[in-house]
Amino acid sequence: MTSPRTHTFVCPECRRSIEVDDPMRATLLDVGCVVCGAPVTEGDMADPPPA
Ligand SMILES: [Zn+2]
Repeated sequence: MTSPRTHTFVCPECRRSIEVDDPMRATLLDVGCVVCGAPVTEGDMADPPPA
C-alpha cells in the first residue's frame, strides 16, 4: 500500500492553509479556493518535505 500523497495549499487571496490530497488538489485547481473562490494555480501548492 502506498501512503496518500498530500499537498499544502496556501490561498494567495485569503492566506488560508489547507492540507489536501491529490483529488482535492485537482478540485482546487479546477474550481478555485474553497474559502474565498480565488483562482488557484500549481504555484499555490507546496509538497511537504519527505520525513
Ligand atoms: Zn482563498
